[in-house]
Amino acid sequence: MALADITTSFSGNPLDRADHLRGDNEIFGTYLERDDTRVVLMAGEQILSQKDGTLVWLNYESCKILPQINLIFLGLEEGAPRYALHLYGAETDFEGSLTYKEKGIKFRDGRTLGFKLGDAHPSLGIVAQAKSMLLWHQNHMFCAVCNAESRLVKAGYERLCDTCGTSHFPRTDPVVIMLALHGDKALVGRGVGWPEGNFSALAGFVEPGESMEEAVARELHEEVGLTAIKVKYVASQPWPRPSSLMIGAMAWVEDTALTIDAGEIAEAIWITKEEVRASLRGDHEKRLIPPSYAIAHNLIKAWLDEE
Ligand SMILES: [Zn+2]
Repeated sequence: MALADITTSFSGNPLDRADHLRGDNEIFGTYLERDDTRVVLMAGEQILSQKDGTLVWLNYESCKILPQINLIFLGLEEGAPRYALHLYGAETDFEGSLTYKEKGIKFRDGRTLGFKLGDAHPSLGIVAQAKSMLLWHQNHMFCAVCNAESRLVKAGYERLCDTCGTSHFPRTDPVVIMLALHGDKALVGRGVGWPEGNFSALAGFVEPGESMEEAVARELHEEVGLTAIKVKYVASQPWPRPSSLMIGAMAWVEDTALTIDAGEIAEAIWITKEEVRASLRGDHEKRLIPPSYAIAHNLIKAWLDEE
């Protein structure tokens, strides 16, 4: 259900999350035994997928023998229950047992699925939900208040500590990602450790007590020494590494002089629309726009396409 003008990859999850069912014990009982129930598997941080990047849905019966960490309820697809199961072990532990290997079915990471599926695809929305939720459970087994082991409740949307009574809820971490603009140029950067010649929009975590606009202005000032004079929200994207929400914005800046923070940014350059078009054609020495599964691609395309 993507409602923005720009549909980003990893959004557009088609499932009805069915919050009203999450307190029902039947979710982990009779619902699992239904003929139309299906389960998607995650091992390590990788999701079981078809050769084309779409998801592999299994019935629960065939999953019962597998070593399980956590099982969560994803929601309903046209009334049929959908679950995500995190397997105990690395993805390579299961490769030998995949009887359908010859069909190209295997565990793949989110980035590979994004590449395979290209633009926004319903499978990527489900990947984002499943992966973020299952990794949160894996990393929050113990109560942050009293250190006792907590347990999964509300079909996976809460962990409850029986020792001190504290409820813990899955988190999403906001990140701003912005295209700085001045005149007819935009700024792209290459982070420290990135391959030579690969550029994207600048980004950073929103800090507590900060608005989205303030975070954009602060990050631009810290990373490249620019002063933002206007910030405009464009679109957002769930980013399941492990559970960020990328908030995409355009930021108009006062001037073009750069003071680069060498600890974070290896290189930052002002580019023209013609240079980006050349890069898209494969006719430029640098890759000035990232793959289409990244919201930075949507931001740069939105700038290219504006009147
Ligand atoms: Zn506790």
